[in-house]
Amino acid sequence: MSLFAAVEMAPRDPILGLNEQFAADPNPAKVNLGVGVYFDDEGKLPLLKCVAAAEQQLLEAKKPRGYLPIDGIAAYDKAVQGLVFGADSDAVKGGRIATVQALGGTGGLKIGADFLKRVNPAAKVLISDPSWENHRALFTNAGFEVGTYPYYDAENRGVRFDAMLAALQAAPKGTVVVLHACCHNPTGYDITPQQWTQVVEAVKSAGLVAFLDMAYQGFGEGIAEDGAVIQQFLAAGIDFFVSTSFSKSFSLYGERVGALSVVCDSADEAARVLSQLKIVIRTNYSNPPTHGAQVVATVLSTPSLRAQWEEELAGMRQRIKLMRSLLVEKLQAAGVKQDLSFIVRQKGMFSYSGLTKEQMQRLRGEFGVYGVDSGRICVAALNSRNIDAVAKAIAQVA
Ligand code: PMP
Repeated sequence: MSLFAAVEMAPRDPILGLNEQFAADPNPAKVNLGVGVYFDDEGKLPLLKCVAAAEQQLLEAKKPRGYLPIDGIAAYDKAVQGLVFGADSDAVKGGRIATVQALGGTGGLKIGADFLKRVNPAAKVLISDPSWENHRALFTNAGFEVGTYPYYDAENRGVRFDAMLAALQAAPKGTVVVLHACCHNPTGYDITPQQWTQVVEAVKSAGLVAFLDMAYQGFGEGIAEDGAVIQQFLAAGIDFFVSTSFSKSFSLYGERVGALSVVCDSADEAARVLSQLKIVIRTNYSNPPTHGAQVVATVLSTPSLRAQWEEELAGMRQRIKLMRSLLVEKLQAAGVKQDLSFIVRQKGMFSYSGLTKEQMQRLRGEFGVYGVDSGRICVAALNSRNIDAVAKAIAQVA
């Protein structure tokens, strides 16, 4: 009998399944709002100018491709710290942060999860209800029991903040709380800076371990605004984790560029933590790849390229905001009567549209508009050519 005779077929990834269905749909007017990817107004995946310029420089330098250190390119890790925490912050200057290059934001989360499992194997993990789907799977596979804290408020189109805070206050000491630093995926609803202050206080007083997932810095209100919560956690003087992804902000999805940073009490503690993170990496994939991190490090540390990146990132952010307000206008013009202001209040690439599974299925079947059954649509995939059709289709099923 084959070794694999009893291996069961794993369920298909729902979003990838949606992509396959989209690809097979003969409707020429079909629109894919299912994926979590930013497209430009032409419906194309952008190659940022700052990225192309950095790549040109790297090509001309003709660098050999030796192994990188286990924790990645030093200049990259430094650039990540500068961006995420501020180069002048006490924690960075004092050497209190252990940062490692990772395979995208997912890789940062996974290194952090595996390290946490060694440090506190009995801890439970709490993720938002709902959350990015991979949060649950990733922490479960790292050996944790994963629960949720209340988040989405379907009735009032927002966040169940009081319930969220109460859940955090009641969580046992040592519980790992995964928090979306900005641009919550999938709902698009973020909490306010004042509410963050309360969350930081709750994390501190209950002795929880905050794990901030920052996959969309710069897609909400701006680089500094979206990263403000990090400053709040730094000011609270507690240890915490941050995973960083440059997939969206540099449009470098396939290069797998991310990082994990662990903020510690002292430089000595950070050195010990770093040594353990390196073991996690070494025993998984040994060391990270060169190209993407080299590009990001070059852009972030070259003033002219950095300025260009900030401009291009602002362009993506503003286009998403424009699509949000246009969608509201066009839905109203198409006869939708309900209050749609929630669409412009949401941040980042996604919108929980409030549409039901049946409505999402009708959108797909009757109009070729593909979103996730949960009602999530990717606003960053709307453009001036498809938005009229999308608005009319939604108005038909709403
Ligand atoms: N966290 C969240 C909340 C995300 O939405 C994503 C990407 N969809 C990631 C992490 C993973 O990012 P990456 O593709 O860089 O691994």
